[in-house]
Amino acid sequence: MALASNSPRASIESKIFYHQGWKELFSVIIGGDEVKMGKPSPEIFLEAAKRLNIEPSSCLVIEDSVPGVTAGKAAGMEVVAVPSIPKQSHLYTSADEIINSLLDLQPEKWGLPQFQDWVEGTLPLEPSYIGGPVIKGFGRGSKVLGIPTANLSAEENSDFLSEHPSGVYFGWAGLSNRGVYKMVMSIGWNPYFNNTEKTIEPWLLHEFHEDFYGEELRLVVVGYIRPEANFPSLERLVAKIHNDKKVAERALDLPLYSKYKDDPLLKTTL
Ligand code: ADP
Ligand code: MG
Repeated sequence: MALASNSPRASIESKIFYHQGWKELFSVIIGGDEVKMGKPSPEIFLEAAKRLNIEPSSCLVIEDSVPGVTAGKAAGMEVVAVPSIPKQSHLYTSADEIINSLLDLQPEKWGLPQFQDWVEGTLPLEPSYIGGPVIKGFGRGSKVLGIPTANLSAEENSDFLSEHPSGVYFGWAGLSNRGVYKMVMSIGWNPYFNNTEKTIEPWLLHEFHEDFYGEELRLVVVGYIRPEANFPSLERLVAKIHNDKKVAERALDLPLYSKYKDDPLLKTTL
């Protein structure tokens, strides 16, 4: 595995230094100052392959930039694009695959060993804690579909939002003094805000007999299920969400995830 960046070698070194153990994961690290021409020229990838001692055609490039995709294809390599700017995938069409985030990388599609960290259709994550009062959403009639989502403020949870790609996640939800419930949620781009604002939409997997706007909701997000997707019909979307619910309900019974149910941070101290 090689790291090939247009950044100068020294910048790569100082940046990677903060992530313990990362540097050792790469057998080759090559900076923009070690080649004549940076991306979109194929040179940096060809040089990386040479130092890895493998044929360019056997390499898979993972790239977040458009010039990088161009460089990878020009080097005769297969390229998976992870666009650095959301909603810009139309600029990346020369890539062999476009994925929303690294959470969706499937190495087995490229003849590489499968990641070992997925468990029963879920990817365990470092737990994230978010919360606040339940706010009004955008009246998408989700209750009509039987999928109400107790929205949390995007501003108050902006760190969480910037660290998590859009997609379907799950975890546990503590609601005021009512209890702790299983929860499946989508993080996504609100179309009403011209794709500029991401929203947090947790569905508590419990039958409530009334609304609970304004009540304190605490979430621990423990795993990832899938990226956001487009569906040809509303029925297909609803079916997919019900499948997400089933996956989350089952996974949350695994010790790996169930241990967070009693987390004191889910309790509101009033
Ligand atoms: P909004 O667009 O205002 O978020 P929704 O149609 O998504 O409206 O409904 C969400 C509201 O429904 C929540 O704020 C909450 O008060 C209520 N609600 C009732 N049951 C649930 C549930 N199981 N999960 C989430 N919210 C629920
Ligand atoms: Mg909602």
